[in-house]
Amino acid sequence: MEKVETDAKDILNKLGSFSSYLVGLDATVDMDECFRFPLEVMRQAMAFDVSVLYKITNVVDNRLILEIVRLFDPEGYRSDLREGKKLILDIDQPELIFVNEVKAYKSRKISSINVPGAGCDMVGSIYLPGALGGGYLFGGDYCGQESAIRDYEESVCEVMCNLLSTTLIKTQFEQLAVYDSLTGLRNSRSIKEEVQRICNRFGRKAGSMASIALCDIDHFKKVNDTYGHIQGDVILSEVGKILSDSMRKHFDMAGRYGGEEFLLIFDETGSTEGFEVVERIRETIAAYRFSRCDGSGKLITGESLSITMSFGVAEKGGKSGDGDDLEWISRADRALYQSKHDGRNRTTCQ
Ligand code: GH3
Ligand code: MG
Ligand code: MG
Repeated sequence: MEKVETDAKDILNKLGSFSSYLVGLDATVDMDECFRFPLEVMRQAMAFDVSVLYKITNVVDNRLILEIVRLFDPEGYRSDLREGKKLILDIDQPELIFVNEVKAYKSRKISSINVPGAGCDMVGSIYLPGALGGGYLFGGDYCGQESAIRDYEESVCEVMCNLLSTTLIKTQFEQLAVYDSLTGLRNSRSIKEEVQRICNRFGRKAGSMASIALCDIDHFKKVNDTYGHIQGDVILSEVGKILSDSMRKHFDMAGRYGGEEFLLIFDETGSTEGFEVVERIRETIAAYRFSRCDGSGKLITGESLSITMSFGVAEKGGKSGDGDDLEWISRADRALYQSKHDGRNRTTCQ
């Protein structure tokens, strides 16, 4: 395919819209989702036929394990690439394949060596510290011809990648302040603030209603003692996923209240309905087969574990009086205590 002439003015315009997109990014945006727009902008600005985003998922003995997380190939030029595909780059043997990816990774600069049939014409490195989930490589490809990449096009790619690195680091830090890293749910401070925010709303707006549920894994200490802490963490993480999948997107919120205790908020929901929702969650958890892993965290296939959870529900609004957020949470806590007392794996409504 003939390489389309890129126009400096057009590229500047695209950079402008890219910058305003980045400014608007907030902590709740899914990381991979963050890349959808920049990738498309980069493809357009550079007139690439195909653009690819690789996540560096691991580095083992000078080998990079890459996964294609986003692919823009509207004309279907690169049938060898698809989202989810894993690639291995050997950094010690760059002459073999993916010359430009290797170079980009080593220098954190971009390269423009054309490698027909393997990798991309141009690659930029989007740097993220390991603690924030590791970095990404961006690739753009002109298909079927020599790319003849110009200096200013390289600069555009570099600026884009640097902008994206900076913004992602900022977004990740914001995310760390709000989310619990093990379960992916809101952290304790953030979920308590949310309860407080809803409580304050009751003072301003009469007639609304909301329910919260405190829940706690039953006999979790025994799970840790029997199978180890890593197994315990796997269960916490899977419980987090089940809870967040059970929430209605704009009304509900789940957070890790502490250790193996979670707080769920159901807005615009009375305790009768709240009880029914929570019972469904409780049954889902009791029926779920949790992943089994050994002491080093390696999955044991064909084996699973079961756990149960106890729940305490309390509503706010209606006849529940005008106590504050702490009073509301303590009513849910008393209901949870009752569920534990009555034999666990059950829901009590206060
Ligand atoms: P109950 O049914 O009364 O709630 O019994 P329990 O054993 O779940 O309660 P207990 O409070 O005695 O023990 C809670 C356990 O949760 C002890 C602690 O090791 C474990 N736990 C808390 N946070 C974490 C964590 O982040 N990871 C792991 N693996 N375990 C945790
Ligand atoms: Mg417990
Ligand atoms: Mg507990």
